[in-house]
Amino acid sequence: MTSISANLQDVRKRIAAACAAASRDPAGVRLLAVSKTWPAAAVRAAADCGQREFGESYVQEAVAKMTTLADLGLEWHFIGPLQSNKTRAVAERFAWVHSIERYKIAERLSAQRPAAMPPLQVCLQVNVSGEASKSGCAPEQALDLARRVGELPRLALRGLMAIPEPTADAALQRRRFAELRGLRDRIAADCGIHLDTLSMGMSDDLEAAIAEGASLVRVGTAIFGTRPAHGEPVAQ
Ligand SMILES: *Cc1c(COP(=O)(O)O)cnc(C)c1O
Repeated sequence: MTSISANLQDVRKRIAAACAAASRDPAGVRLLAVSKTWPAAAVRAAADCGQREFGESYVQEAVAKMTTLADLGLEWHFIGPLQSNKTRAVAERFAWVHSIERYKIAERLSAQRPAAMPPLQVCLQVNVSGEASKSGCAPEQALDLARRVGELPRLALRGLMAIPEPTADAALQRRRFAELRGLRDRIAADCGIHLDTLSMGMSDDLEAAIAEGASLVRVGTAIFGTRPAHGEPVAQ
């Protein structure tokens, strides 16, 4: 687990360097450690290094880890595709959801969010690269979705999230992230909804995302290593 500590330090350095290059305050970029497929022990190792926010994509797996690690008081973000039959567990256990792409799912999350908890913090996922296989709403649907989700009583609409197609072309990476930022600005101008979160950038493209205004980067591989496939047993 010592490599998690070294990897986290490297990622924090990359974030700091990208902020310096973009003349941005590093306090404006939060690091979400994506721990999907990794065991609770890996999360605990990262938490021991001061990491507080973790991203998960599979509900059952996440809830098991939350239960094991309840003593740590971590903040959990749901970042995976979300089906209607899983919304209750997400509404009851998570602080954030980054992957809202349909109003119906948002409506269920709002209805199921327990009254004793703070509102669920949410981002709309937008398919900026237009790939048929990718999740997220179409960019032209985002304004309407923002208006409707913004009215739901138990959700706090915080921002936009995107997972552009992987590419080594740094200019293309930046163009996709700039598109998401532009959409955020249009939602402010046309709907009067001011979003403070751009959830964009992963292990391979966080520099481009920070250059284009990311306020939260979601990093898995660069912290925990190459993931085992979901469902494969992982050494505890
Ligand atoms: C898995 C995942 C990540 C982390 O990707 P890495 O390339 O491992 O950093 C980020 N965001 C989402 C939505 C993911 O599903």
